[in-house]
Amino acid sequence: MTNWQELESKYYMPTFNRIPVTLVRGEGMKVWDDKGKEYLDFVAGIAVNALGHCHPALTEAICQQAGTLVHTSCLYYTTPQLNLAELLVKSSVLDKVFFCNSGAEANEGALKLARKYGKVKLNGANEIITTLNSFHGRTLMTLAATGQPKFQEPYKPMPGGFISVAYNDIEAIKKATSKKTCAIMLEPIQGEGGVNMSDQDYLKKVRAWCDEKGILLILDEIQTGIGRMGPLFGYEVYDVEPDIITLAKGLGSGFPIGVFMAKDEASVFEVGDHGSTFGGNPLACAAGYATLKYILDNHVLSNVKEVGYHLVYKLEQLKTQFDFVTEVRGCGLLIAMQFDKDIAADVMNACMADGLLINKLKPNAIRFIPPLIVSKADVDEAVGILYKVLSNI
Ligand SMILES: *Cc1c(COP(=O)(O)O)cnc(C)c1O
Repeated sequence: MTNWQELESKYYMPTFNRIPVTLVRGEGMKVWDDKGKEYLDFVAGIAVNALGHCHPALTEAICQQAGTLVHTSCLYYTTPQLNLAELLVKSSVLDKVFFCNSGAEANEGALKLARKYGKVKLNGANEIITTLNSFHGRTLMTLAATGQPKFQEPYKPMPGGFISVAYNDIEAIKKATSKKTCAIMLEPIQGEGGVNMSDQDYLKKVRAWCDEKGILLILDEIQTGIGRMGPLFGYEVYDVEPDIITLAKGLGSGFPIGVFMAKDEASVFEVGDHGSTFGGNPLACAAGYATLKYILDNHVLSNVKEVGYHLVYKLEQLKTQFDFVTEVRGCGLLIAMQFDKDIAADVMNACMADGLLINKLKPNAIRFIPPLIVSKADVDEAVGILYKVLSNI
């Protein structure tokens, strides 16, 4: 049998601290490794596989499109791209889209759009305020936007034009705002930074401040968008309308696709301002369309709410049973469990041995980001395994 871990260390750049499991197949909520062991998947490729693994609606759309037209470049009109653009716009408060291939790329485009907006509408303002512990991607520009020095350290000097302030601190945003500010960029919930919740009125206050100053509100909904929090978009939870949003993770349910969307007033790109060879190709857009259409037509959003509540309820029960569980937080199916000690790796490994994949969010916290089609029975099975694991900690 091929030793895949040996192959990886020989051929792959060692940037990932990989879990020693080789996954070879998936179906619905389940994945299997190369030894035939079955796992219940509460990671979903980091909040990506919205419809679970190999959902027939997605597989059929991809296969159908793969046999019809895969790529043409954006030199020409293609139908899947425009179908998805229309569906996204009609399902949101935004007016225009630009497709790309990943989250970082979506943010990169959104940041360029904000810079252009500053140039043409705000006397050349080019600074963007972001928050500490945010995560916006791994390109140099999105890393500079990411308020986590540990990711930036190897690549200094960083591109300029960013100020990172404390999350949930509207006064810090006000203090950092100047004539040079063109936009504020935030996640509705900081996903990678720790499932850090925004206070109920924070986004509303930021929106009001942006209106007062005439600057743009960019919401990075790469993790929170496409139903992860319950509504299709996180901004709906807080009842604010952003000027620009970015999406990626769940949009293709595993097929790589990203997008940034803007209100008409913020859509300042002109011919030649931005581009992408692969972005918006028919195959990716067919996957995105199939995912979004399925979510909208099959009560997936109400499932997220219902099963999300059930998950929190069951995890809160564990919290009363184990005193080292200090908090359960999150919204929809973006949920974290906080411990008072660094046991997340042990918990993750023990769960995996018992057939459950969960995500180590921090040394002392785990994250639950299952497919949006997860059922209450799946939650009960997962929490049963977790109960046994926590009992043995
Ligand atoms: C995952 C993520 C990104 C980066 O997406 P990639 O596809 O890995 O480039 C950016 N912002 C947020 C909020 C994310 O969760």
